[in-house]
Amino acid sequence: MIYHHIALNVPLSDGLLTYVHPEALPVGRRVVVPFRNRPQVGVVWAARVEPQIAAAKILPIQEVFDGEPLLPPDWQALLSFTARYYHYPLGQAVFTALPHGLKEPKAVALPQPPLFYRLNAIGRQQPAPPARFRKQAALWAALAETAHGVDMADLKRIHAQAEKTVAAWQQQGWTDCTAEIPPHAAAPRHTLNEEQQAAAAEIQTAFGRFQPFLLYGITGSGKTEVYFDAVEKVLASGKQVLFLLPEINLTPQLLKRIGERFGDVPLAVLHSQTAAGKRTQDYLRSLLGQARLIIGTRLAVFTPLPDVGLIVVDEEHDTSFKQDNELRYHARDLAVWRAKQHNCPIVLGSATPSLESWHKAQSGTYRLLELTRRGHAAARLPVVEILNVGRLKMDNGFSPQALKLLQQNHQQGGMSLVYLNRRGFAPALFCGDCGHTFGCPNCSAKMVLHQRAKQLRCHHCDYRQPVPYKCPDCGNQDLTAVGFGTQRVEETLRLAVPNAKVVRVDRDSTAHKNDWAELYRQIAGEEIDILVGTQMLAKGHDFARLNLVIVLNADGSLYSSDFRAPERLFAELMQVSGRAGRADSAGHVLIQTQLPDHPVFAAVKAQDYRRFAEQALLERQPFSMPPFGFQTAIRADAPTFAEAAGFLNEIKAELELLLPENVACFGAVPMLMVRLAERERAQIFLESPSRKDLHRAVSLWVQMLQQNRQPNIRWSVDVDVQEM
Ligand code: ADP
Ligand code: ZN
Repeated sequence: MIYHHIALNVPLSDGLLTYVHPEALPVGRRVVVPFRNRPQVGVVWAARVEPQIAAAKILPIQEVFDGEPLLPPDWQALLSFTARYYHYPLGQAVFTALPHGLKEPKAVALPQPPLFYRLNAIGRQQPAPPARFRKQAALWAALAETAHGVDMADLKRIHAQAEKTVAAWQQQGWTDCTAEIPPHAAAPRHTLNEEQQAAAAEIQTAFGRFQPFLLYGITGSGKTEVYFDAVEKVLASGKQVLFLLPEINLTPQLLKRIGERFGDVPLAVLHSQTAAGKRTQDYLRSLLGQARLIIGTRLAVFTPLPDVGLIVVDEEHDTSFKQDNELRYHARDLAVWRAKQHNCPIVLGSATPSLESWHKAQSGTYRLLELTRRGHAAARLPVVEILNVGRLKMDNGFSPQALKLLQQNHQQGGMSLVYLNRRGFAPALFCGDCGHTFGCPNCSAKMVLHQRAKQLRCHHCDYRQPVPYKCPDCGNQDLTAVGFGTQRVEETLRLAVPNAKVVRVDRDSTAHKNDWAELYRQIAGEEIDILVGTQMLAKGHDFARLNLVIVLNADGSLYSSDFRAPERLFAELMQVSGRAGRADSAGHVLIQTQLPDHPVFAAVKAQDYRRFAEQALLERQPFSMPPFGFQTAIRADAPTFAEAAGFLNEIKAELELLLPENVACFGAVPMLMVRLAERERAQIFLESPSRKDLHRAVSLWVQMLQQNRQPNIRWSVDVDVQEM
């Protein structure tokens, strides 16, 4: 009898259990095993292992899916690394990476490459079906007309019974079929400009070896054309390409662009809205090498790829690459790991790179490629205006200037965007005279106002101080508390610009994939005059008629206790500004703020990412905040904050002397959104300039957490935490 380690979807520390089988099974084979009296899917992780428990207690494997392709060793290595790095049970990590069909305890059908049918010489001598059999006649005509062949999916659209009918004709010897994909009429394409050409050429020199590139190009500079050039060459060399995008960027526009350029390449499209069956088939097609270009959102990073030659991560700074529950992986970081594993180049692209990637590009770990000009010769950068609204009379968040611009633009036939910064922020204190905000002396986070305790507290390192009675900069004694303001934006707009069609875009109004398509149709049809929306609208969309952007409440991010909030605000303002004036007219961006002198705004006004990045890095360096140090959050939630924080603080006290010396461990603080689903959430930050030491510290923490299980408390670990 042979003992096997099987990865199962169970929350055990490594998720590997031992089962027995009469013969050795290959690693990567899917099997069914009994677990707690129920059949469960597992993946063979190792064979011929030494059993750690009495042989008599080891249960047999129930079923082996030996008709399926094996999950390959490099995929297993990826998941072993992922589980280790993110301190997550291996078995559960493996099941996060599998599509639905492969998690079910039954065999899956293997994907068949599509076949293309046409009438052959004998068929052409036969009489066509009589016209009164309308659908059969149409089917026959389609098969007669095509030179290369039509695939079954298309034939079924002509006649629901196509499969049966064509099978009968095939039997008669009247039709032929081929698996070859029809040649694709090449779409007209741009000649790369000089900068694009230089970037493309550099990427090409790295084919066949590991080299990360940071493609930093302003919005509309034609990064996509550079990716496409590299993609095309790698595909032509017979290798696969993995192309990752943020959730929101997988738009019909982009898919259309890809379809036009790579119409004859077998595609797999993997994202959370792909139907389960299709996703399973696309996963297998990628594994089998049938799919050559794999496009998807963060989860696609786990797709098995036998011979990948290039990875692209578009909008690499986007927070949707980090999963914020269960397995808290960062798809961009795992993509870099995969590129290294496969010895291939990876291109991370953005107009506002993450400071992590920018820092790596500055230090030479990544190679920097730059695009400084917009692709369209005519497209100009928008005019950005910073409006100090501190002393203005506001109408539900709108300044008189903003409303006037909206009215004018509507009269002149332009489309406007009203942008709301909906990022949550805790109450803070600031000086209305000089704009001073209160930062923590120990880290680069902003302090949160605790009115009842009359304290300012850092929600990062738990530093506390009494509420100051005057501004340390200018002596003003009238410090202002800022908190949430709910604005009735749409109502105000309807009154101020009565004839405009106002449409609000948020997570709810775009929950279905057709919602975006409908929105585009309305925009293309010039049916919308004013779009109202949040972050979602900032990204990757190309709205030709948009020429005015009003940013209502940018400031929340500048008081936020999340030290990354200004970085996100900057990226969003740059992108939202990039929306304006894409085609032929220069856009106008008006940003309302009470902190007009904040360096973020100066950088947005100058449309200067470099300036912003340099200043933000200078701010973080003295505190060894990322990217200069590494950070992991240990979180707990309980019915009350006190229970959650108490649980963490107790473990912290026990571990105090055991942690490596250069790992800082702060006191428990509330999460930015402390209440969620009737529970309250606390977290402790562990920080270190050494990734390795931090990893060791987190391992110690996880051991202690596992030993101290309490019924009321749930805990989790967030490595390389992105959201506070
Ligand atoms: P990015 O991805 O950097 O935001 P895109 O690749 O979407 O930019 O390009 C922006 C616009 O410029 C698109 O409409 C694209 O067709 C156009 N464009 C890009 N490169 C060129 C070029 N070399 N010549 C002409 N137009 C270009
Ligand atoms: Zn602090």
